[in-house]
Amino acid sequence: MKLNKTEYDPKLNSYEVVIAGGAMIGTAIAWFLISNKDFNGKILVVEKDPTLEFSSTSRTNNSIRQQFSNSLNIEISKFSSNYILNFKSYMENDERIPEIMFNKIGYLYLADNIEKINLLKQNQKLQNSLNIPTKIYDQNSLLEKFPYLNVKNLIGGSYNNYNEGYFDSNTIFSWWKKKAAEKGVEFIKNEVTEIALDSKKINAITLKDGSKLKIGSFVNATGTKASTFDKTHFLRIPVEPRKRYTFIFKTEVKINNSVPLIIDPTGIHFRSDGNYFLCGCAPEFDDTAAYDDFTIDYELWEEKIWPILANRIPDFERIKLVNAWAGHYAFNTFDQNGIIGPHPEFINFYFANGFSGHGLQQSPAIGRALSEKIIYKKYKTLNLKPLSPERLIEKKPFLEQAII
Ligand SMILES: Cc1cc2nc3c(=O)[nH]c(=O)nc-3n(C[C@H](O)[C@H](O)[C@H](O)COP(=O)(O)OP(=O)(O)OC[C@H]3O[C@@H](n4cnc5c(N)ncnc54)[C@H](O)[C@@H]3O)c2cc1C
Repeated sequence: MKLNKTEYDPKLNSYEVVIAGGAMIGTAIAWFLISNKDFNGKILVVEKDPTLEFSSTSRTNNSIRQQFSNSLNIEISKFSSNYILNFKSYMENDERIPEIMFNKIGYLYLADNIEKINLLKQNQKLQNSLNIPTKIYDQNSLLEKFPYLNVKNLIGGSYNNYNEGYFDSNTIFSWWKKKAAEKGVEFIKNEVTEIALDSKKINAITLKDGSKLKIGSFVNATGTKASTFDKTHFLRIPVEPRKRYTFIFKTEVKINNSVPLIIDPTGIHFRSDGNYFLCGCAPEFDDTAAYDDFTIDYELWEEKIWPILANRIPDFERIKLVNAWAGHYAFNTFDQNGIIGPHPEFINFYFANGFSGHGLQQSPAIGRALSEKIIYKKYKTLNLKPLSPERLIEKKPFLEQAII
């Protein structure tokens, strides 16, 4: 079959920046680069499946929180929430751009032992110092504030609804892509299969059809494929696919439709989702997933998840499952946080990988920061050095205790 030229073929044979992966992170980087007045040059975004059917971005839960334990993650989320709330002004006040839906239902972390509540208290201190008004609740005040909860085995929790909840990431993604294309970014359906290195740089990349492109800089935004997209496997990082289930259900008894995103001590989380509820969890044995395994474990739902939900909110005894999907986290097995910035040796190779369960909310901050690093060779706003790949070599994990 003859391929449609405009869809598959790059127009040029040399680009200032080539980005592999055209989902949330790759597109954010393309937008922040092209909209920066100090950037000159051509950008190519190569996406092997523009429907994004199996990308993390399409299977996400769209939630954003400020309740992290690391100040950098909090600063990243502070910028992202400001960005969501003021999207139109960040997008050059383009009249076509709508308000972004941001439903600030908050997050509620529950604790069933002293260690957990102490950790929440420690995190709260840090969050408060960064102007995030997280509050700690004991068992009684939890019940008072959230009367639908069964608090029997709980000793407390932490709650904040300032700039926490869920948002419409799809509209943000679509406008980044549309406006980037209007400014000349090329988006093609193709696959990066190989990169050519000399002693200090990436010189060229090869696409699936064999075409070779000269490049100035290369960005790896390939999600779960981060360490395997390149046949030479030269630039491997500890990122692998891990399955995560999402179950959507409705209740027979009407419950408050702003139930926060509740992180149960069992590890599962759930929240209201308009008139429905959404529950997210890992498989029973959380291990590397096969790239093509998106099967759903309904037995897990029936036998384990539903009973946990019904224990926490007795009105969840009578619910009906209306939808479910499995998605893959690009799971960073080293420390479950983004790996961002230039390769320590091949300095025109940039990583934007390993975001595990919080890459969607971080995408505005990552797009902005990485574009600065590419253009100015330094971070100008948020310093993301602590997330750099050097930490893998130095074996110094980025410490974040609030992983979901
Ligand atoms: C079930 C689930 C729930 C989540 N919930 C949340 C949440 O509530 N909040 C939050 O912040 N984050 C959440 N996340 C995480 C978030 O969705 C991801 O971190 C984010 O979408 C990652 O975007 P990405 O662009 O890096 O990767 P992806 O969306 O996976 O995109 C990578 C793209 O690269 C392409 N690609 C791969 N190899 C190549 C190649 N060689 N050449 C060209 N293209 C290639 C792929 O086709 C893919 O489209 C969730 C993830 C899952 C799975």
